[in-house]
Amino acid sequence: MSTADASSATNRGARLILIGPPGAGKGTQAVRLSEAFGVPAVSTGDIFRSNVKNETELGLQAKAYMDAGEYVPDSLTNAIVHDRLQEVDAAGGFLLDGYPRTTEQVHELDRLLEEDRTALDAVIQIVANPEEVVRRLLKRASEQDRADDTADVIRHRLALYEEQTAPLIDVYGSRGIVVTVDGLGSVDDVTERILGALRERGLQSERSVEDASNA
Ligand code: ADP
Repeated sequence: MSTADASSATNRGARLILIGPPGAGKGTQAVRLSEAFGVPAVSTGDIFRSNVKNETELGLQAKAYMDAGEYVPDSLTNAIVHDRLQEVDAAGGFLLDGYPRTTEQVHELDRLLEEDRTALDAVIQIVANPEEVVRRLLKRASEQDRADDTADVIRHRLALYEEQTAPLIDVYGSRGIVVTVDGLGSVDDVTERILGALRERGLQSERSVEDASNA
């Protein structure tokens, strides 16, 4: 598709979720996929971090959990997603990065989508081997100032992912909407894999990876 076609294309309304362990590269892929589908990327981690930075009430409540590598309580997390998805740019579709992470969050998202009489198109599972994930997170720790990237906290976050979030794959799997993609390799390779897997399910992006990465 040419750039002219892409810019005049309408939002096809893809509703996508990215699930994977910390360090699997969800954030990087989320930005690219949101460009490719013309929908906003909504990262609960980013929303929490910007609130911590700006010292908002929400930030003050979330900070201790985040620093310890714990999940922020469902009540808080569900409330921010509820508000964010009501914003006008999310009306035609969205890409959720880092939400849902618990069964209760799945239920809340189901409720929100039912209210809007819509449904998820796909749940993208990014798999990555734990050693690689720890290596990436430790590298990020030395590059960015993230209190949740120390070795102990990383181990805890990975354990929490396995215990609370990995089971959600079965929940969505039983609905037949999971696509599983290997998160190892270059950023472009992984994006291509995801777009290819989505295409196989009939989900065509508006823009190619090249367009998205040049945006
Ligand atoms: P990562 O994927 O590397 O764990 P994120 O940026 O997605 O990082 O999240 C950072 C932190 O924000 C999490 O460790 C957790 O404390 C909090 N958080 C983000 N999303 C959620 C969520 N859906 N439920 C509960 N806590 C969350």
